[in-house]
Amino acid sequence: MSVPVVKLGVLSEVLKLMALGASEAVGFLVGLLEPSSVRVFALYRVDNRLGSLVEFEGDPWQTVQAHVSAENYRFNVVCLFHTHPSCPPLPSSLDFRGMKLWPLIWVIACPGEVRAWRLDEGGGLQEVVVE
Ligand code: ZN
Repeated sequence: MSVPVVKLGVLSEVLKLMALGASEAVGFLVGLLEPSSVRVFALYRVDNRLGSLVEFEGDPWQTVQAHVSAENYRFNVVCLFHTHPSCPPLPSSLDFRGMKLWPLIWVIACPGEVRAWRLDEGGGLQEVVVE
């Protein structure tokens, strides 16, 4: 299983700004899965029902809407994103647990940096390059 590159472009700047908010921002990145990369075209933010700076729970109805919207445009939901108030943006133990439930690429942004992670075939954490 090769490790794709997540092509975020200018959206990485948007994610860094979201990390300055009063609670963790959460949502989905929508785009196309290509052989060696994941090209992101849109960002769907959903409400963090916990309103917390240390954890998140995405609004379920908005989560469904994000997926339906991606389908309507014939795109895929390619990543889950959320923000951390401080850098570096490393997955917490809660994030690691969440990654097993939502086995997408997880993009984590802090005010100064955006990084991405996924689970490898053995269930270990693997970093994914972000461009
Ligand atoms: Zn986190």
